[in-house]
Amino acid sequence: MADQVAGAIDIGGTHIRVSLVSDRGEVLTAATLPTLTGAGSAQVCVRRMHGQLVRQCAQRGLGLADLRGVGIVCAGPIDCRRGEIHNPYTLPGWEAYNIVASLRACTGLLVTLEHDVNGALLGEVFLNSWQGKRVLMISFGTGIGVAVYDRDRSFRAGTTYHPEMGHVVVDACLTNACYCRHGGCFESLWSGSALQARAQALGYASFDDLFARWQAGETAAQGEMERLQRYFRAGVWNLMTIFKPDILVLGGGLMQRYYDFCAGLIRRDLDGLEDFVESYQIFPMALEDGSAVVGASRLVFGDAALTA
Ligand SMILES: [Zn+2]
Repeated sequence: MADQVAGAIDIGGTHIRVSLVSDRGEVLTAATLPTLTGAGSAQVCVRRMHGQLVRQCAQRGLGLADLRGVGIVCAGPIDCRRGEIHNPYTLPGWEAYNIVASLRACTGLLVTLEHDVNGALLGEVFLNSWQGKRVLMISFGTGIGVAVYDRDRSFRAGTTYHPEMGHVVVDACLTNACYCRHGGCFESLWSGSALQARAQALGYASFDDLFARWQAGETAAQGEMERLQRYFRAGVWNLMTIFKPDILVLGGGLMQRYYDFCAGLIRRDLDGLEDFVESYQIFPMALEDGSAVVGASRLVFGDAALTA
């Protein structure tokens, strides 16, 4: 039997990936569109997504109606249940835009929306055959995105199904600014952009510079790196003790360079604490760029247990 095919769309703050993905997780076609922001930009982007889906179907000798549906993953905050985007931080002008209804109206297909970190985790679960496991993913990028796959479904919280676990507080005495209004939250300390800003405020060229100087044994870098490691251990500890996952996935741009360092830190920190965290494995994200579109396709093929 021929593979079934889904449209898969990953909407980020700078670009939008549009792909066709088979039910075996194979990315068949791919294109990248620029993300437009501001009034009316969502409507323009949806027209372009539709155009891309039509074009990519034609490349594969398919019509739009041959697709099983379209899965969209998007940078939050979003309301998966209503199909709306509420993200003034990276998608200004898209607020309250119902992307599910819009894309359904122009394609005639079933359309499903999911948070991008949940989508990436669904992709990782599928690509690694982790169905039946409990998997925690922490993605260190511009912010910190956290998602949990609990055997057959994505962990949900609140009415919009968008947990905010990247904002767990790791040092309540800090008064640094975060848009969550809680100083000392994990994201405000350990997102890629937070580390960069912090290192630069201390006079280093970048976080890479601070890290390299610490590794080289420079005395001035020791105190700051010790502090940062304490914050990292606290953030991961909070999440690991709450979810006790079988598998921890570390993803996001920061982990392309610091996976080994961070995985080592976690292993040392949790060593001997099996009463608290049980046995677990740590992996880097398998497909840094591709997991989200594969995850978006899994929304269509029905292994995401999305219903409320
Ligand atoms: Zn925060």
